[in-house]
Order: sequence, then C-alpha cells, then structure tokens
Amino acid sequence: MSNSRFRAVEEAFVRETVVAVPPARATSEYYGCNVFNRKNMRKYLSADTRQKVYESIEQGVTLSREVAEHVAAGMKRWAMDMGATHYTHWFQPLTGGTAEKHDSFAEPYGKGESLEEFTGKLLCQQEPDASSFPSGGLRNTFEARGYTAWDPSSPAFIMGDCLCIPTVFISYTGEALDYKAPLLKSETAVSKAAAEVLKYFGIEEDFVYSYLGWEQEYFLVDAALYAQRPDLIMAERTLVGHNSARNQQLEDHYFGSIPGRVIEFMKDLEFECYKLGIPIKTRHNEVAPNQFEIAPVFEQANLAIDHNLVLMALMKTVAEKHGFKVLLHEKPFAGVNGSGKHCNWSLGTGSGIGLMSPGKTDEENLRFLTFMANVLKAVYDNNALLKACVLTASNAHRLGANEAPPAIISSFLGTQVTTAFNELLNSTDMVKISGKSGYSLGIPQIPQLLIDNTDRNRTSPFAFTGNRFEFRAVGSSANCASAITVLNTITAYQLERFKEAVDKRIAAGTPVMQAVLDETRETYRACQKVCFDGNGYSDEWKAEAAKRGLDCETSAPVVYDAFLSPQTLEIYKDTNVMTDVELRARTEINWEIYCKKIEIEVRVLADLTANHILPVATRYQSILLDNVSKMKEIFSPGEYEQVAAGEIQIIKDIAIHTSEARALAIEMEKVCDEVSACECERSKAVGFHDKVIPYLEKIREHVDALEMIVDDDMWPLPKYRELLFIR
Ligand code: ADP
Ligand code: MG
Repeated sequence: MSNSRFRAVEEAFVRETVVAVPPARATSEYYGCNVFNRKNMRKYLSADTRQKVYESIEQGVTLSREVAEHVAAGMKRWAMDMGATHYTHWFQPLTGGTAEKHDSFAEPYGKGESLEEFTGKLLCQQEPDASSFPSGGLRNTFEARGYTAWDPSSPAFIMGDCLCIPTVFISYTGEALDYKAPLLKSETAVSKAAAEVLKYFGIEEDFVYSYLGWEQEYFLVDAALYAQRPDLIMAERTLVGHNSARNQQLEDHYFGSIPGRVIEFMKDLEFECYKLGIPIKTRHNEVAPNQFEIAPVFEQANLAIDHNLVLMALMKTVAEKHGFKVLLHEKPFAGVNGSGKHCNWSLGTGSGIGLMSPGKTDEENLRFLTFMANVLKAVYDNNALLKACVLTASNAHRLGANEAPPAIISSFLGTQVTTAFNELLNSTDMVKISGKSGYSLGIPQIPQLLIDNTDRNRTSPFAFTGNRFEFRAVGSSANCASAITVLNTITAYQLERFKEAVDKRIAAGTPVMQAVLDETRETYRACQKVCFDGNGYSDEWKAEAAKRGLDCETSAPVVYDAFLSPQTLEIYKDTNVMTDVELRARTEINWEIYCKKIEIEVRVLADLTANHILPVATRYQSILLDNVSKMKEIFSPGEYEQVAAGEIQIIKDIAIHTSEARALAIEMEKVCDEVSACECERSKAVGFHDKVIPYLEKIREHVDALEMIVDDDMWPLPKYRELLFIR
C-alpha cells in the first residue's frame, strides 16, 4: 500500500467520530441567541426605536437617520456583549454564495488609543470596492462604485466574531448587482397584485407574503479522500470515475438509518442553525449513497433565502470539523442521483390565509381556484423563463439528463384539483343558495384533507402538494432567490392581467363573483396545457409537450435567451422588478459563468488525463509487456499463444484507451481555446455547450475503462466505492 490513495482510504477508515455535544438545554433556551431578534431588541433598544424597527420590518417603512443611529448603537452593544469584534455588510453577489468584508469595531484615534465605533451611517450603507464582482457590464472597473444597503426585514446575526448585516448590493446608478434586491421588489409586486385580487373576496390586506420552505440535498465525502480528487477540489464534481458495483439500485439508502458519523455532523449543524434562528425541522438520508437532506419549516421567502445561504456556509465549516467535505454540486457523481433544492413556494396573508390552500366554503374554494389558475397561467406563459432561472452548467446534469425533474416545465395538480378544474370548465353559472356566501360554484367541494392526501408525483418539476407548489428544478447549489423572484414576478404580472379582465366584466354588468368565476375559468382554459400528471421521462411526453407549446430546449446558453424575450422584458418592467439593462447584465453573467465553469472542467480533465491517469496506465502496461515478453522465453510458441493472449489483449486495450484519451484531451483544449476566443458571450457559451462538453464525456469513457483494467494498487484516484461508501 504505497500510493497516497490508500493512505487516504486508511485515514478515512480510522477517522474518529467527533461527538457533537449539544448543550443539555432545551432548544428553546438558545434558539436565535445569535440573532438580533425581538427578544434581543427588547434588551438593547428603547420601546420607541423598536416600534419603528417593527414598522420597517412589517410595512417596509423607511427608517430615519436618527432611528438608525439608535439601532446601530443597540446592535453594537449587543454584538460586543456577544463577543463580536467585527461587523460586515453581508450580501449576495451574482457569483453565487455570499460576500462579506469584515471591518473592526475598533476605531484607533491617533493617540495610541482606540474606541469602538458603529454608527447609523455604517449600519445603513457601505461602499465595498465592488470591481471584482460580476456586473455584466453594468460597471466599468474605473467606476467600480457599488454600495450595500441594509435590509431591516432580515435580522442581523453573529457568525464567529462578526456581526453580519443583511444588505442589498446595488450599483451607484441604482441597478441591482445581487439576488436580494430584485427578490424584494418581486415580493412587493406580488403582494400588491394579490392584495388587489383578494378584495373581490372581501378580504382587505395590506400585505401578501411569499413563503418558501427549501429542502437542501447534499453529499458528504471523507475529507482525506476529497483531498485526493483534483476534480472535486477544482470542479466540485468527479469528472472521471467508474460506477461502483453497488450504488443506489437496492434503494437501501433513502430514509435508511443515518450513519453515526453523519448524525453527529447533523446534530452539530442543527445546533449552529438553531443559534442563528434557522428553523430546521427535518433530516434524512437521500436516494444516493452518502446523500442527505436537511429542511426547515417554511418562512417568508426573503428570510428563508438568507437562512439557506447561511446554512450552506455553515455546512462547510461544520463538515470540516467532522472530517467531511460537503458537496453542494448538483451532480458530483455520475450514475447516481444528483442533488436539488426543492423550493416549496406559496402566497399567504399576514392573517394566515393561504392563497394556495383549499377552504371549507364555496367562496374559499373559488379563491383557491382563482389563485391556482393564475399561478398556472403564469407558469404556462413563462415556462421557458422558469427553466432559465434554474439552469446552470452544473444543474444541467440533472435537468433533461434523465433524472428528476425533466427539462420541460409542467405542473402536476393531482386528481382532486384537476377534477375541480374540469368541473369548473364545464360549469356555467353559479347556483344561488342561501347562507353566508349566497352562491354555490356548482362544483364539488375540494376535500379539506387535501393537504395530507394529495397524490405524489416525484417527477414533476412544479408539483402542487396540497397548500403550496414544490418547484423541484432548483439546483442544490443555487441561491433560491433566482427562482422565487421569477415565480413572484410572473404571478404578479398575471394577477394584474386577471384583475383587468375581471374589472372589464364587472364594468359590463356581470356581478363580481360571477366575473371572478368566469375569468378564473378562462384563465385555466388558456393554460391547462401546462398541467401534466403523467411520466415526465417518457419520449411520448417530450413529443406531446412540444405540441403543447412548452419549451423543450435543453442547452442552457440557449435557454437563457428567455431572460431577454420581449415578453420577459415587458413583465419585469411592468412589475418594476428589473429594467432591461439589469436583465441584460444578468444574462451576460449567466453566459459568462457557464463558460468559466466548463472551461475549468476542461483544464482539470486535461490535467488529470495527462498527468495522473495516462502515466499510471502506461506504467501498468509496461509491467504487462515485461511479463509477456518473459513468458515467451518459458513457453513453447503454441503454449505462449494460449497463456499470453489475455494479457496481450489488455495491453492492446490500454494502448487504445490511452492513445484515444490523449488525442481527445489535446483536441479538447484546442477547441476550448478556439471557443474561448469568441468575443460574444452567448456564442461562446453555445460553443462550450455544443463543441466542448462532448469531449468531457468521451474522454471520461476511456478513463473509466482504464480504471477497470489497471491494477487497483496503482490507480491514483479514490474510486466511487470509496468516496460513496466510506463513512
Ligand atoms: P417532502 O415531503 O416534499 O420531502 P419536506 O417536509 O421535506 O417535504 O419539506 C416540505 C417543505 O415545505 C418544508 O420546508 C415545509 O415547511 C414547507 N411548506 C409547508 N407548507 C408550506 C407552505 N404553505 N408554503 C411554503 N412552504 C411550505
Ligand atoms: Mg423532503
């Protein structure tokens, strides 16, 4: 056992479990202790100031400079009492992940002394040197000014020794350079539009909230093995690696008992989450070996997204403590399931009315069908855009690659809701009845139990699950804001159109409820083609979906065009979520990041092939050559032919695979250089998709074939069976 792979395997085997010792206290005692929440505000802010902050959180009222000063002072005292020494404006640049630049509270004032400072100005706004964040051409480097502005609706929190203040990140000319700013605007847009439609039902609400409950899937691998895989380190996925004999075919991992070392990691992670007020609820094994899921209770989308981003950062640090590396890539291993981040999304009022929840009365059910029909229409009209907002170089390995979900956005409703809609299509008038609402829809009641007994369809990208939609196409490494912003925006736009149409009917003399019913019926009629309850993987569905006018494109760079369609530009302008310029910039960045990710994979695979795989394969081949030539001396020609035939065949196979892999790798780099030279980001990305990616697959086939031939002792990279089965 000389090679470093075996040392890593041994290390993985003997690694001791770090036992997480959660305090012997009830979670409620420390829950949210690292958050500047209401409980902490009560200790550090005056009643007046608190009132203003609550108004700002709940109603979006802007805080005055004076109040901000008070908040900053209280926040600083709290943070310092908690041991924090630094603060940062925490934001979500378009690179993915989060960004932070720590500044010390210490303010040396020149006489060898210093005091701690944190003013309202520092709380509200900062100007990070933003030149290195992608801007899609919005900022030239020489005018690299961008600024971060406090988002009071997401509470400040402490990570390590740093007070983190959630902020939006915008250019000096006001364009969004992050995920949060458009998300907040989309929340406002959908809130307004939904509140207007609610008025038909006699419900007056100032705000309608979008809610999100994400389900984060991830893989864990042993840190020592990870360190032996340049592809995992550089590209976050294995670019080579033969399937292990056993993977997920026995279906014995899903919901299986969680391995000891992993459960300790999970406990530790949950402890850290609770301190930060992240409401983690669920943990379980996922389908693939070493794949797991963590999910919280849903929250208002903006907060849920911040929490998910904090979680992703925490996962990495906590995993390290336990000798693991966490993989958030959508497809780290070929041949087993990839990871997604299902986004459970719904709209609801502050008073607790779920707009996607069926009710008890006819009126409640009409309300339910109205909002359902509008969401479905929005999804139908914008199915390409919905795909564009979740498709990335890494998520492309899931979507459309014969894995849940397919790359055609359709919606699963289940039999009960479908039946209700069908009845609606066939009904004409409402039936007058006595009683509170005074009318009946003439369609069957939707059972109250729906939430618990909706049928499950695991392949649908956008499935109704009783009181919410589950958008399953979102990737595990994504910032959910990208998807939620689109959902909110297209729904807002559609609800506005709905209201216009209903008002027209009312103006023409139709009674209000009848007008709503009629328009709901027509809305559903116009979009029912987006509903599909069958098998999303069948070839029949692909043909059928194309006939229904659903977007079937799978090439990410081409799918991104949906961001710039006249329809998208109009929707974003109308809802005030993003300008043409912002959408253009974002799309440029999407193409740019796509190219960079593939280019990294190319460089890593070329290096792996030339410097790791081929030398080893050739060395093994020489051993065999030496062996067969010595056999020749011992055996008679007749015997030799028989006993050496097998080895000679292996020598030939190695020769074929190594020469092919070498030639392909050289060609791949050449094509990659040619494609990279292209000035237009879109053409470049299309080039990477069409011309470069096929090489990655072809080279992999040869390398994986070599893995099965070459002496296991000599193979330099940890194998799938080791990466996926060693705990
Ligand atoms: P699954 O059975 O799909 O794996 P999970 O329990 O893992 O479901 O996750 C479901 C997620 O959906 C949770 O985060 C849950 O809080 C969230 N959720 C439940 N109701 C709603 C709702 N009305 N709106 C948004 N999210 C919701
Ligand atoms: Mg789940």
